[in-house]
Amino acid sequence: MRNLITGGAGFVGSHLVDRLMQAGEEVLCLDNYFTGRKANIAGWIGHPRFELIRHDVTEPIRLEVDRIWHLACPASPVHYQHNPIKTAKTSFLGTYNMLGLARRVGARLLLASTSEVYGDPEVHPQPESYRGSVNTIGLRSCYDEGKRIAETLCFDYQRMHGVEIRVVRIFNTYGPRMLPDDGRVVSNFIVQALRGEPLTLYGDGSQTRSFCYVDDLVEGLIRLMNGSHTGPINIGNPGEFTIRQLAEKVRERINPNLDFITKPLPQDDPLQRQPVIDLARQELDWQPTVALDQGLDATIAYFREAIA
Ligand code: NAD
Ligand code: UDP
Repeated sequence: MRNLITGGAGFVGSHLVDRLMQAGEEVLCLDNYFTGRKANIAGWIGHPRFELIRHDVTEPIRLEVDRIWHLACPASPVHYQHNPIKTAKTSFLGTYNMLGLARRVGARLLLASTSEVYGDPEVHPQPESYRGSVNTIGLRSCYDEGKRIAETLCFDYQRMHGVEIRVVRIFNTYGPRMLPDDGRVVSNFIVQALRGEPLTLYGDGSQTRSFCYVDDLVEGLIRLMNGSHTGPINIGNPGEFTIRQLAEKVRERINPNLDFITKPLPQDDPLQRQPVIDLARQELDWQPTVALDQGLDATIAYFREAIA
């Protein structure tokens, strides 16, 4: 199989590159390095089955591939809000260009969508059938609405042109290779604690998230791509924690003497989030295997080296 991974030098993308390369497949890794790093895939450069392409998905590209794993898009609120118009372009034009490519060459395309399509959910936990509560004009809208229109494009390309699509709604995923300045909560807390700084709780820390370890996510992506179910399908770990609980877990592992400081809760920050994963269990025979405690240990070990 010849695989194109857009966003392949990013956090999730680089773990997917590793899995496909280890399976003996051919990998074209495409990235504009906005939040990705060559260091994440440096080990494969020069390998005969690996190719690296610097490209921005908002521009069309012609390639011969069998499978497109479309991950290109900044995922951290700090980065996707840095240039929200660019984020919306990446989601819409990027997905449009990749679907055009899939149509031309008959490739199957997997879209990395997000739990953010549920917005600040009024239904808890969130099944795929929930249509979401999204602000169309807020600070998160460029990303949330961008991913919603990207899902729409996938289904219209399937209906109009018969493109084979797979749509995954990814819930908060963490692990090694997140950027130290990524801005997402797991990396922020670990990096702050390792530097002996107070941990920054936004709001009172009572909002919840459900954290999935990156290896579990990648296994789910591969099963979805290889199977016959189109999605949308939730992939995430249903273990739900408040942000304060997460901060306590990180603090107790690194330095129990650290303080918490509070910062204002960002606009439209969802109050709760937890996936229903019955569909993934049924259709993909998938469920997470790495508990938060275990995944945090592995992630902390990575950051100890990375920021030493
Ligand atoms: P990331 O920011 O680490 O990776 C995104 C990658 O895409 C980076 O390498 C970046 O340089 C690249 N990129 C961004 N814009 C691009 C463009 N216009 N052209 C080419 N490359 C571009 O984020 P991640 O956590 O690895 O997320 C990967 C995908 O999964 C994203 O689509 C994200 O929306 C989705 N997702 C991730 C999570 C999560 O918790 N990690 C949750 C939901 C959805
Ligand atoms: N958060 C926090 N401190 C931080 C970074 C994030 O309390 O230093 C909170 C944030 O307000 C949100 C949760 O942690 O409620 C998850 O934030 P993240 O940016 O990781 O992901 P998302 O909001 O997109 O789920």
